[in-house]
Amino acid sequence: MSSDAPGIDTLAVHAGERRPGPEGSVVFPIYQGTVYSVEPGTDYHDIKYIRLNSTPSQKYLHDKLAALEGAEAAVATASGMAAVTTVLHSLLRAGDHLLAGECLYGGTHEFLTQHAEDLGWSYTFVDPQRPETWQAARTPHTRAFLVETISNPLMRVPRLREVVTFARQEGLTTVIDNTFASPVNLRPLAVGFDLCFHSATKYLGGHSDLVAGSVAGSAELIGRIRRTLNHYGGSLDPHAGFLLARSLKTLGLRVRAQNDNAMELARFLDGRPEITEVSYPGLPSHPDHPHAAELLSGFGGMLSLRLAGGTAAAEALLEALRIPYVAPSLGGVETLITRPATTSHAGMSSRDREHLGITDDLVRVSCGIENPEDLAADFEQALHKV
Ligand code: PLP
Repeated sequence: MSSDAPGIDTLAVHAGERRPGPEGSVVFPIYQGTVYSVEPGTDYHDIKYIRLNSTPSQKYLHDKLAALEGAEAAVATASGMAAVTTVLHSLLRAGDHLLAGECLYGGTHEFLTQHAEDLGWSYTFVDPQRPETWQAARTPHTRAFLVETISNPLMRVPRLREVVTFARQEGLTTVIDNTFASPVNLRPLAVGFDLCFHSATKYLGGHSDLVAGSVAGSAELIGRIRRTLNHYGGSLDPHAGFLLARSLKTLGLRVRAQNDNAMELARFLDGRPEITEVSYPGLPSHPDHPHAAELLSGFGGMLSLRLAGGTAAAEALLEALRIPYVAPSLGGVETLITRPATTSHAGMSSRDREHLGITDDLVRVSCGIENPEDLAADFEQALHKV
């Protein structure tokens, strides 16, 4: 192993591992105990207790997550929503203002639109592709800028380098939801982001069998976030943490297969007579392709499409496909397909959805790791029925 900069696959397998492990175990065990003997004078947040995110299984997972992100520190949370809400609660006080990309994950968008006002926060949604508009939205109370690496469901890639430059000039903390890219395709802290979080339910977990979140950043910021998390109670259960650490070991293998499948499927669908639009940042026709190619090591496993036959054709496609499950969520080894207007973005007003192009006919595909020729053959037979 090169001691300088191990590659992501080496990190995924070895980072955070205790060598030797407890009792010589190669696999770090699940410490299911909630509580441990305590030395007199231990700081409250250092007491080993699951809700305080300080038990051996949790610390092991935190070390692995931090290494994968190239971060000083990381903390796991009970879900992706626990990650984003804990981050925002750690950065914002009553009276503060947030700049946020306008095409956020539906749950994050709903959290802001339904709860920010009660918390005394204000926010402005900005177009993350248009840096020239951000200054006008900044207020003297702006504290942070929140964006996503690849937006859901249109796969737009914001001007991430410009977000960092602008925020540094303005003294704002930068926060990025890196769920869609995973650290295999982008490590945002290397681009200059202060905090990077995930719904680990998706690519990091990768098998559609756990719910978790993660946040990575400087030791100082993660210390602050862990304390907030300790107070709000959004810690991750050790058993889910074990599944997550186990999944992380194959992250690179899975995500590269998903990148390849999405690229092949996007190319296969692009230009077919039944399809009017394929949104995938790996296609040269995608509006963000040039800067996505510069930023990302891979374009991700997600794509979306529109059919010439509109919503009825979209429904017919979902019904005719045999390999993908018709289901929301993403990032698992099995291909999933959904209409975001009815699932991930159903909580958004139809006006907001319309503004963002999340129309009823839009179909989103999360590519799994199946053989790409089987996926193409399945779409071929299904498109004949549309
Ligand atoms: N961020 C993104 C981009 C997501 O897609 C999701 C869930 O779909 C979340 C955050 C929320 O994650 P969770 O469902 O794990 O709470």
